[in-house]
Amino acid sequence: MTRIQQNLDRVRSQILHAELAAGRARGSVRLLAVSKTKPASDLAEAYQAGQRHFGESYVQEALVKQRALAGFAITWHFIGPIQSNKTKQIAGHFDWVHSVDRFRIAKRLSDQRPGYLPPLNICLQVNISGEESKSGIKPEQLEALVSEVAALPNLRLRGVMAIPEPETDYQWQCRPYRALSEAVERLAWPGFDTFSFGMSEDLKAAIAEGSTIVRIGSAIFGARTY
Ligand SMILES: *Cc1c(COP(=O)(O)O)cnc(C)c1O
Repeated sequence: MTRIQQNLDRVRSQILHAELAAGRARGSVRLLAVSKTKPASDLAEAYQAGQRHFGESYVQEALVKQRALAGFAITWHFIGPIQSNKTKQIAGHFDWVHSVDRFRIAKRLSDQRPGYLPPLNICLQVNISGEESKSGIKPEQLEALVSEVAALPNLRLRGVMAIPEPETDYQWQCRPYRALSEAVERLAWPGFDTFSFGMSEDLKAAIAEGSTIVRIGSAIFGARTY
């Protein structure tokens, strides 16, 4: 077994333990392997160990890997900040986008989604720690954006993504996720089924608060050197 495959095993068992600790069904949380900055050969190793969902943050870099891995049954997730001049490539080459935080971008993704592909799966990124610098809408903007984006024909609005401020205390890790999931519960949101919550350091808290997709990079592929 390679190092990446050992890492994957360890992360999978952490997810399983968190699912059971939270009284949730085994397999109810999907592992998204975040492979930004890593070569296609690393993704191929993870793929050999059964990993199918990969997350990328940089469009050009992702397209290079997609070409190298054509023929692999990979589900591609875009999780990085989105510039309007990149929406066409994202709409044409990804299955999911986690980082939609304005209507204009959602509209472009819908308009540019090729007709031969199924609707693009979308999560709205919500800034739940209130820092000005972070991307994501404010929780109070969620209701309006949900109703606008839900009306776009070539998108399938699945849920929310959040990246809270790092906290080491478990209770503090839970708090922003719980607040956002309560905000979602108060909305009428037909088709909602996704919380893209949790990274290596707060996976247990995120899963306790309902995460359905955890995004893990360096714990699988090793530290990134940019
Ligand atoms: C890079 C990234 C991750 C994974 O981060 P690691 O520290 O490598 O686990 C998760 N989510 C988003 C949005 C990212 O950009």
